[in-house]
Amino acid sequence: MVRELTHFIGGRHVRGTSGLFSDVFDPNTGQVQARVPLANRAETEAAIAVAEEAQLEWGSWTPQRRARVLLRFLELIDKEMDSLARVLSSEHGKTVADALGDIQRGLEVIEFAAGGPHLLKGEYSVGAGTGIDVYSMRQPLGVVAGITPFNFPAMIPLWKAGPALASGNAFILKPSERDPSVPLRLAELFLAAGLPAGVFNVVNGGKESVDTLLEDPRVKALGFVGSTPIAQHIYTQAAANGKRAQCFGGAKNHMIIMPDADLDLVADALIGAGYGAAGERCMAISVAVPVGRDTADALVAKLTERIGALKVGHSLDATSDYGPLVNGPALDRVEEYVRIGVEEGAELLVDGRGFRPDGFPNGFFMGPTLFDRVTPKMRIYREEIFGPVLIVTRADTYEEALRLPSEHEYGNGVSIYTADGDVARNFTTRVNTGMVGVNVPIPVPIAYHTFGGWKRSVFGDLNQHGPDSFRFYTKTKTVTSRWPAGALRSGAAGPGTATP
Ligand code: NAD
Repeated sequence: MVRELTHFIGGRHVRGTSGLFSDVFDPNTGQVQARVPLANRAETEAAIAVAEEAQLEWGSWTPQRRARVLLRFLELIDKEMDSLARVLSSEHGKTVADALGDIQRGLEVIEFAAGGPHLLKGEYSVGAGTGIDVYSMRQPLGVVAGITPFNFPAMIPLWKAGPALASGNAFILKPSERDPSVPLRLAELFLAAGLPAGVFNVVNGGKESVDTLLEDPRVKALGFVGSTPIAQHIYTQAAANGKRAQCFGGAKNHMIIMPDADLDLVADALIGAGYGAAGERCMAISVAVPVGRDTADALVAKLTERIGALKVGHSLDATSDYGPLVNGPALDRVEEYVRIGVEEGAELLVDGRGFRPDGFPNGFFMGPTLFDRVTPKMRIYREEIFGPVLIVTRADTYEEALRLPSEHEYGNGVSIYTADGDVARNFTTRVNTGMVGVNVPIPVPIAYHTFGGWKRSVFGDLNQHGPDSFRFYTKTKTVTSRWPAGALRSGAAGPGTATP
């Protein structure tokens, strides 16, 4: 019997009533391990109503009392990191070590959000005019929603929920239908930590539930992470309906390798950043740009050698470097890109298509794949592949290398490897990309800075986590006050001097 998952609404598991389900696979075996209900409009509207009611109490708590719930959540989740990571790994296909990182990077934003009272303080100008004070306060928006991708089923829901909850909002999470079990467990843990029922809800679903969240006027803001076409659709619809939205999309992250870089360090970094989690990371490096022919030839030789030593296997096997892709369509899509690359004339140095580890003939595995001499006109350069495929695009000069990520339609992350601070400084200043690493392959900023790409990697203005997230999840009220007829002025309080 395949397990039937639920929604989590109003502090309890709720069975789906739409009659629609989506299969949740074990990508290691290719077997269906559960089915997740897809909420229809009525079910989604019911969750919104519950959240709206619950927010009234939650929003009235002091910021510090709300923060204590987040601190208790951290304690509870700490006790079950390993079991949660295994669940995550068995639905997503990333290794347990990667799954632990997924949860950990989410918890860091909860830790940051627990300091929320500091960020909720307003501003105050005493004596802005004669007898006039001006001050501002940050108030919650009400009900807000997060629509999140399959590739970080713990981290991204927590990136959204932490600041949203700390700010006093009620939250509706619409997680990916491909790996919904961890989000459901997060909901149970929030409740156990003391969050009032109905403040954090999980509505599983697809387009119908998302459309409902976009259209219902009770939902005030949407935070989205996923592919660029859907990010743009959600941003456009949210704006048309007068809602706030921050929508993060796809990526094509480059690494520039200067001739003076330590190529062993670079090759190790590229193997981790290109193939880790089967390349299903929005900050994966998918394009290596060596500068100069000698650099390129030497780098390609080192990469090919290291690829030969990579172990692709079951995600729960601690010796695997990476596991399967998330599902069959994802595997088919990536393999199709390899076919396209060959057709376009790129040089396929390592072909991972058709690879299956012993004992798992039906898993969604793909071996590491390496292309050389990929040009900017090719589709495999222009489009996001989102799999274990690393491409090498050679550049003759630094200026040519700098132009590649700068002119690419995506602008999420980029990295440069060099021993020269002058080059690094020039690069960080000029490159047209949101997040930059210097001798760091995956420059994901820590929780108290903000995360966000540029160009078609984002729609909206404020970034995720860091101070921006509190701005996104609150609205500013500004009060201008004057007390012209108080006791001092009327003399009722005895002789005194009027305040300025
Ligand atoms: P996706 O766009 O397919 O799905 C994301 C979410 O949108 C899911 O919850 C899904 O159910 C929902 N969705 C899908 N189609 C929809 C539709 N037509 N209408 C409404 N909702 C819809 O993305 P994915 O495959 O889950 O995730 C991978 C993508 O996410 C990659 O492109 C990756 O680069 C991107 N990503 C970006 C970031 C970032 O911060 N920029 C982070 C992680 C992942």
